[in-house]
Amino acid sequence: MKMTFYGQFVAGEDHNSIKPLIRKNEAFGVGAVLDYSVEEDLTQEEAEKKEMDSCVSEAEKESPGADHREKKYKAHRQFGDRRGGVISARTYFYADEAKCDMQMETFINCIKASGNQPHYKPSDKTTLQFSEVLVKWRRFFNFLSAQQGKSQMTVLEQKLELEQLKESLTELGVGAKDDIENWFTGEKLGLSGTIDLLDWNSLINDTTKISNLLMVPNLQTGHLEPLLNIFTEEEERQMKRMLQRVDILAKHAVENGVRLMVDAEQTYFQPAISRLTLEMQRKFNREKPVIFNTYQCYLKEAYDNVTLDVELSRREGWYFGAKLVRGAYMYQERARAKEIGYEDPINPDYEATNRMYHKCLEYVLEEIEHSRKANVMVATHNEDTVKFTLDKMNEMGLSPTENKVYFGQLLGMCDQISFPLGQAGFPVYKYVPYGPVNEVIPYLSRRAQENRGIMKGSQRERSLLWKELRRRLLAGQIIYKPVY
Ligand SMILES: Cc1cc2nc3c(=O)[nH]c(=O)nc-3n(C[C@H](O)[C@H](O)[C@H](O)COP(=O)(O)OP(=O)(O)OC[C@H]3O[C@@H](n4cnc5c(N)ncnc54)[C@H](O)[C@@H]3O)c2cc1C
Repeated sequence: MKMTFYGQFVAGEDHNSIKPLIRKNEAFGVGAVLDYSVEEDLTQEEAEKKEMDSCVSEAEKESPGADHREKKYKAHRQFGDRRGGVISARTYFYADEAKCDMQMETFINCIKASGNQPHYKPSDKTTLQFSEVLVKWRRFFNFLSAQQGKSQMTVLEQKLELEQLKESLTELGVGAKDDIENWFTGEKLGLSGTIDLLDWNSLINDTTKISNLLMVPNLQTGHLEPLLNIFTEEEERQMKRMLQRVDILAKHAVENGVRLMVDAEQTYFQPAISRLTLEMQRKFNREKPVIFNTYQCYLKEAYDNVTLDVELSRREGWYFGAKLVRGAYMYQERARAKEIGYEDPINPDYEATNRMYHKCLEYVLEEIEHSRKANVMVATHNEDTVKFTLDKMNEMGLSPTENKVYFGQLLGMCDQISFPLGQAGFPVYKYVPYGPVNEVIPYLSRRAQENRGIMKGSQRERSLLWKELRRRLLAGQIIYKPVY
């Protein structure tokens, strides 16, 4: 295996054996994002069982017929195997807290070994429930915004008149007049006489206060329902442990001078993952960007998400850090939305995703141009996007030596992009998977498929390889070892 797929896509078995490869890449100006790639080799049935065991809340288990959650945020057995159709990302299934703690230890070792940056993936049932809460809360804002005739404006322009908002909330029966008055008496809230989505989101910062009590109207039935089905004690504990783990990882990252990239997942987990990442950014990105969130530009709402988070970082004065990707779960997302019956969250076609990527990227680059605080990783194998970034950096006078715009590709793929960038002095990183041969095989078999797909479309990479082969034959250098 080490002479074939493993050797091409995986750096080694553990954080020691990967060091020579990391050093070699660094000699060519290419850094590493460590990616511990062990996946359990589960059958589809086992994966589905694990997903259902871990993502169904206690309340749902006790009364399975009752309608506890919106269908998008419920676990569905037929989509329980989240690996289906996903080839550029690792998939973990929640087993128990002990296993999560073990994984955290692995991530800590990864941070210590790194010197560069590892990435992290949180997901389990509390993430699913919390995602639903955040989405319902945002949808409620959209509803109130429409009542004030502002739904056509961009998300940051939608500023709701405070007095009108209080009246609507009281009329809807969301709370008593005095309670609602109290919501908006915080330090910053309501001083301007308007409330935007960021102010609105800050109302559920302290989930133990308002959200446990809050009733929001179900926009389909018109009935009031609790924003949050109360967590059981065990679920509360799991949520707290997850926050603690994330906190420990972030502290290790700061201590070791390492940046931590949080990967993006499926849309039914992502709102909670983004929110947790944001809380970490608030806390740890005070002096420089340590924590990076990932934005998937195949999502219709990608631009709204990016602009909202950038605006929040401006208001609160922390360093925005983003990894921009197109998104790895397209087929699964589309199939799930169709089968379960909710709106497809993905852009209608590839061109729309490309436009979205460039729009989000341009927005972040402009932010860097103006504040010099934000950082972005352009994580893509798409040559047009890399060229677009280089042109924009040039236009905006963003020098690669400022280290604010990085590029990211996966190990073993698109070296014709990474290495010239590295040698030209641009910060560029390979996602470097590592792990024991047997345990990396499930991941590798999917990577092999992806590479086949990319190679099919990539005439350019093939012609470059032929050119190099011809050069080596003519120079009598079949086995070529560059000196560095
Ligand atoms: C360093 C790195 C880190 C990554 N981290 C993550 C992560 O955290 N989370 C994650 O989800 N993915 C992640 N990915 C994978 C990424 O999202 C893409 O799946 C992969 O990189 C291919 O996209 P591209 O921009 O490289 O290439 P391209 O070939 O230009 O784009 C392919 C992508 O375009 C989109 N697309 C294709 N067809 C359509 C269509 N018909 N309609 C709408 N959109 C379409 C899909 O997102 C598809 O993956 C990462 C990739 C890299 C290189």
